[in-house]
Amino acid sequence: MIAGIELGGGKTVVAVSDDDGSLGEQFRFPTTTPHETLATAAEWIAAQGSIAALGIAAFGPVGINRDAPSYGRMLQTPKPGWPDFDLLSALAGPLPGVPLILETDVNAAVLAEVAAGAALACRNAAYITIGTGIGAGLIVDGHILHGDLHSEFGHLNVPRHPDDDYAGFCRYHGDCLEGLACGPSIATRWGKPAHKLPADHPAWDLEAWYLAQGILALLAIASPSRVIIGGGVSQADGFHAKVEARLRDLAHGYFSTLQDHQPYVVPPVLAQNAGIQGALLLACREATRAGTPLG
Ligand code: ZN
Repeated sequence: MIAGIELGGGKTVVAVSDDDGSLGEQFRFPTTTPHETLATAAEWIAAQGSIAALGIAAFGPVGINRDAPSYGRMLQTPKPGWPDFDLLSALAGPLPGVPLILETDVNAAVLAEVAAGAALACRNAAYITIGTGIGAGLIVDGHILHGDLHSEFGHLNVPRHPDDDYAGFCRYHGDCLEGLACGPSIATRWGKPAHKLPADHPAWDLEAWYLAQGILALLAIASPSRVIIGGGVSQADGFHAKVEARLRDLAHGYFSTLQDHQPYVVPPVLAQNAGIQGALLLACREATRAGTPLG
């Protein structure tokens, strides 16, 4: 048996799977303090039986480079109490000897969507989430893309829409992509949260415009075959088609990838399960790598 944890800013999901990464028993609970959240997750997993490996898909920024001193730790997240918290040590205590692997929630989600979802069998794919922040997971030539750190897609500097004078919501950069297009930026700009804005509200044209600017940069650098957009803000009717139309306008017919793949900007197939399913797939890989028996 393998196990996965999807550690989100608001909620945490833990699950186990027999052997192939398919979703088995799961348990959801609110994310609170780091000690309490990780202890609850570890206790539930330990109660399920012997575990061959555990995959953790965490909100970021988080240290996922195995060669770096920051591996396993939360980095400069604005979430109170979480910066510098050592996730892997907090799990290794209650789950001794279990091989652990840590990834970002969006890298886990793109892995799951490539395995069994909206980017099935793609060797190049991106998964963008838009919620309280904006993040992207990337698979390039079949591998999850890492640099020294994971992608920080949300903090791209994007051109400002000529009619937009909103200052931006990012505490570091103000008007980066996340600062201009995350859920809280929509709520403060328009006075209502995204889910209360009708599909014909001008907010959605502006949102699509900013997302298309960000995806144009992804297209130019990593050339994904498909871009999946998930997260609460992406649920509005017609949102993906709107982003794709704007992206095609911006591309001016230049990028052959866009001609080769239609539709290009799509919703996730695995919906809210992409992150936890990705965590289970990571655990499968880790069990194989560590040589611990599955099942
Ligand atoms: Zn920023």
